[in-house]
Amino acid sequence: MNYFKFNQKLEQLSVKAEQKAKKSFENIDSVTEYNQTKVLNAFIKNRVSEMHLGTSTGYGYGDVGRDTLDQVFADCMGAEDAIVRHSFASGTHTLTVALFGILRPGDKVLVLTGRPYDTIIGVFGFEGHTDGSLTDFGVEYHQVDLLPDGTPDINAIRAELAWGNYKMAYIQRSRGYSLRPSLAINKIEELCATVREVSPNTVIMVDNCYGEFVETREPTEVGADIIAGSLIKNAGGGIAPTGGYIAGKREYVEMCAGRMTAPGVGREVGASLGHNRELYMGLFAAPHVTGEALKTAVFASALLEDLGYTVSPTVDEKRADIIQSVILNKPEALISFCRGMQSGAPVDSFVRPEPSDMPGYDDQVIMAAGAFTLGSSIELSADAPLREPYAAWMQGGLNYHSAKTGVLLAVQCMIDDGVLKI
Ligand SMILES: *Cc1c(COP(=O)(O)O)cnc(C)c1O
Repeated sequence: MNYFKFNQKLEQLSVKAEQKAKKSFENIDSVTEYNQTKVLNAFIKNRVSEMHLGTSTGYGYGDVGRDTLDQVFADCMGAEDAIVRHSFASGTHTLTVALFGILRPGDKVLVLTGRPYDTIIGVFGFEGHTDGSLTDFGVEYHQVDLLPDGTPDINAIRAELAWGNYKMAYIQRSRGYSLRPSLAINKIEELCATVREVSPNTVIMVDNCYGEFVETREPTEVGADIIAGSLIKNAGGGIAPTGGYIAGKREYVEMCAGRMTAPGVGREVGASLGHNRELYMGLFAAPHVTGEALKTAVFASALLEDLGYTVSPTVDEKRADIIQSVILNKPEALISFCRGMQSGAPVDSFVRPEPSDMPGYDDQVIMAAGAFTLGSSIELSADAPLREPYAAWMQGGLNYHSAKTGVLLAVQCMIDDGVLKI
């Protein structure tokens, strides 16, 4: 029985795309297996037990589940320490706590990877705004632009660090919603080595969003002092309902904990409110689910490239995050693509996405997001601003088999709407 009806030619192209993806799938499987054993080992080493899955209320003093999860998570990141909390409202909030935890008025930050992710720009802030940003608090922002090919400009970074007396060097692992490539872990290793060599006392922070478990090592294993990310992306395995994490050297994690709640109180408070079980389960599922999302991205890349679209990354290109961009060239194609993808979601499949104005964006944005967790981008989702070159950024897929159907429905919708002829 065929539950979905696809154009016959599309079905053939789908088989071909899967064949093309085979080699990448094998690589993904071996990374998943490695990371899954890393996570399992952390659970066993920390003797995770039924009692850790319980709950606390009020101040949450002595919540052994919460405190043990911190250490399990740290071990998964190859870090000394971590704080993992459902009370981080988003990735941006978590990164903000880490930045404010470590930086002090008069400090200088150097961003090594060009313009940061949209929401982080507001956290660094703008001259003259009194909005509580880092700039407002007297932290100085500097940035080294990426080279034309989208890779870090090591020579410029070296020169700037030698001269600048920087408190922090900041690296973004994921491409975010730009067309630059994601940063491979060996590139992060090279950047960390450069910082250490030229400016040994500079704190190295990595925005690890979308990068967790994509490779076998995390930035904290190659020289980063502190990393942060969201639990409704890779690290929550599609099970964490909200939250974020900070991991790294104990000294810096403690500074962040003081900012997370209150100085002097730090990580000792914070009720888990019944979320411990979901955060443990999510972390346990995370390597596998990240692998499923990567397979979905690779399949989409192979299929859409065969259909004549420019894709990034391409099917065999090395990946350091779960994001796939597809340049669809025309606004109508973008809208159909997102509508088709939404029609294959397990939740809200009947909803018809419309382009609309969004705070913080100059252009209208369209999104496909039929997820169990609102805004979760480890679940199959796509977003796109309606501007040249009409690129869609898609990510996620809790399991490859259903997410593959979502991708095929996206293409089928473009065919049905007459914006793609095959
Ligand atoms: C998602 C993301 C963020 C911010 O996370 P939110 O949860 O959307 O606030 C920051 N940096 C990068 C690279 C991201 O992908």
